[in-house]
Amino acid sequence: MDDKEKIKELEKEIHELEKDLIHDHLTSLKTRAFFEEECNTYLSAIANFEAGKRKEWFGFKHLSVLFIDIDHFKKINDTYGHEVGDRVLKKVAEIVSGSLREGDTVARWGGEEMVALLLGANELDAKEKAHNIRKKIESLRFNSLKDLKVTISIGVAENFPGANCAGLLKNADLALYKAKNSGRNKAVAFSMITE
Ligand code: GH3
Ligand code: MG
Ligand code: MG
Repeated sequence: MDDKEKIKELEKEIHELEKDLIHDHLTSLKTRAFFEEECNTYLSAIANFEAGKRKEWFGFKHLSVLFIDIDHFKKINDTYGHEVGDRVLKKVAEIVSGSLREGDTVARWGGEEMVALLLGANELDAKEKAHNIRKKIESLRFNSLKDLKVTISIGVAENFPGANCAGLLKNADLALYKAKNSGRNKAVAFSMITE
């Protein structure tokens, strides 16, 4: 291998390592750290623009997050086994990613929880998107496992003045809590619980 080839090989390795750092292995979704950075970058760009500190304009001033949690996932693992649980997790991740616009970000927050960043979406847009995703998961079936039904609960929150990613996710998490407590398989918006 000559020097040029060695450099090419190393560049390939670096690329693979970078990919590993920002992607969750099981679901191929982004990592939590990547999500937080992305979300905070957009939030501060919007805030700076609104404060007149920034000239460029993204073309949107709204941004929303979805906090998604698979319902009774422990029971799915207990009934069908961990491997089926993993399959369910991957499939849900695939459906969520496939339902969003290019440029939006979906990450695995932990366990069976996912978060999504919807650029340019206000709470109402995001709620509609959440509702569509929820319906898709509800009608999902697994070939060999006729009785396996999966549902998700979703908390929705939009940006607010002075928001950072943690604040936004806190609101979405409160809405998710409400979705869980009011029967699951629901999408609840933060404004609905604070009215
Ligand atoms: P709820 O509707 O209230 O959300 O109930 P739940 O059972 O989904 O929530 P709980 O937090 O009690 O359980 C989550 C389960 O997710 C427990 C854990 O073993 C499982 N889990 C977390 N990560 C993975 C994973 O990578 N693969 C599989 N198969 N299971 C996982
Ligand atoms: Mg959970
Ligand atoms: Mg759960």
